[in-house]
Amino acid sequence: MPPLVSEEINDYLISGKISSTWVDGVIIVGAGPSGLATAACLQEKGVKSVILEKSDCIASLWQNRTYDRLHLHTPKKFCGLPLLPIPDSVPTYPTRQQFVEYVKEYARHFDIKPRFGELVQSASFDETSKVWRVQSTNKSKSLASQKVEYVGKWLVVATGENADDRIPELPGLQSYRGRLIHSSRYKNGADYEGDKVLVVGSGNSGMEIALDLSNFNAKPSIVVRSPVHVLPREVFGRATYAVAMALMKRVPLWFADRLLVLYSYFIIGNTAKYGIKRPKNGPLAMKEHLGRTPVLDVGTFAKIKSGGIKVMPAIESLTTSGARFVDGRCQIYDAIILATGYKCNVPSWLKGEDEVFSDDGFPKCGWKGRRGLYVAGLSKKGLLGCAQDARLIAEDIKKAYISG
Ligand SMILES: Cc1cc2nc3c(=O)[nH]c(=O)nc-3n(C[C@H](O)[C@H](O)[C@H](O)COP(=O)(O)OP(=O)(O)OC[C@H]3O[C@@H](n4cnc5c(N)ncnc54)[C@H](O)[C@@H]3O)c2cc1C
Repeated sequence: MPPLVSEEINDYLISGKISSTWVDGVIIVGAGPSGLATAACLQEKGVKSVILEKSDCIASLWQNRTYDRLHLHTPKKFCGLPLLPIPDSVPTYPTRQQFVEYVKEYARHFDIKPRFGELVQSASFDETSKVWRVQSTNKSKSLASQKVEYVGKWLVVATGENADDRIPELPGLQSYRGRLIHSSRYKNGADYEGDKVLVVGSGNSGMEIALDLSNFNAKPSIVVRSPVHVLPREVFGRATYAVAMALMKRVPLWFADRLLVLYSYFIIGNTAKYGIKRPKNGPLAMKEHLGRTPVLDVGTFAKIKSGGIKVMPAIESLTTSGARFVDGRCQIYDAIILATGYKCNVPSWLKGEDEVFSDDGFPKCGWKGRRGLYVAGLSKKGLLGCAQDARLIAEDIKKAYISG
């Protein structure tokens, strides 16, 4: 079989500086679950692919940028990648490490070997040759910071919804003198014992980090700026996520939402009493229309009720030693953790695709772009969305690959 990627990287030189390599198959950017799933589905259809990954491992988000106590928030049934389910021996909510092991086994099973250390800096469609030109800087030891151009007919964007940390523009951010990190750098609460810590952001990560801090005997407070749905993780012993998916198939969305909110009220009580208002729209409507994930409670709310975690309103500004809140209170904190979410990095490297992508880097029309461009894992549907995109992309590319 001829090599997928021409190893003669000095095939020809562009401007005398960048070596260029023809890819006889699909160029995938990103070796997270989406990129790996796409490569596996393509392989099953007899289509070759090469994955370019900037870090030195697969699933780098899960391996390097998540906290120790993390478990999948969604049950494993909805998190398996195509063609190789998560094994029965793994519990319903796998730990971060169990999920990483599964993804590693996935790559081994399909013999997927990404090109590590390849930071893709630009990709654009060459109108003259009708090919994609993907330029990356290779930081591997053998090719010390060498620029390489990969050229091919198909390009899959799989760089994820969590590519960069989102840092909010908080007044006074620069003046704060305590420890300040983004949640992607938080590992566990061991370093924070006895400290007053402010967690900014009340999504699943913020809520779980506050709980972790409390378990490590820190004194956490959490900023809840906007209304948020807190749902119990389980409904009558079944995963709330699974119940919600089943309800959505059988009853109208608004009705499913009413049931979920009513049930949550019944099980965990009135969250508004503790400073966490519910949005007017239901949790499923919020997810469907705004991509906002409800919080699946793993014990944080009980800590809030017992006073182990304090709820604070929006921040007006940070001070040198803490924060001033919109209700006028001013508090001192030893550390601040910004659980303020992530950004997609597509606009920084994919050029000339404004018709396909919005300014925030998310596709306007789903997984299929134009001229051989595809998108995996940017549907705001978590791992389930990654798997769905991978299958659809492989099916679509197969038709063109086989015929041409
Ligand atoms: C803390 C946390 C918990 C989560 N829990 C769940 C859960 O329980 N259930 C669920 O369904 N989803 C969950 N998610 C959502 C998560 O995004 C997906 O689970 C999954 O990791 C997405 O896979 P991906 O491959 O699309 O993106 P990623 O896993 O982010 O992979 C993208 C890859 O692209 C690489 N890359 C980025 N830019 C470049 C570039 N320019 N050049 C080369 N390589 C590049 C990155 O290094 C990375 O390896 C969670 C997310 C976070 C942050």
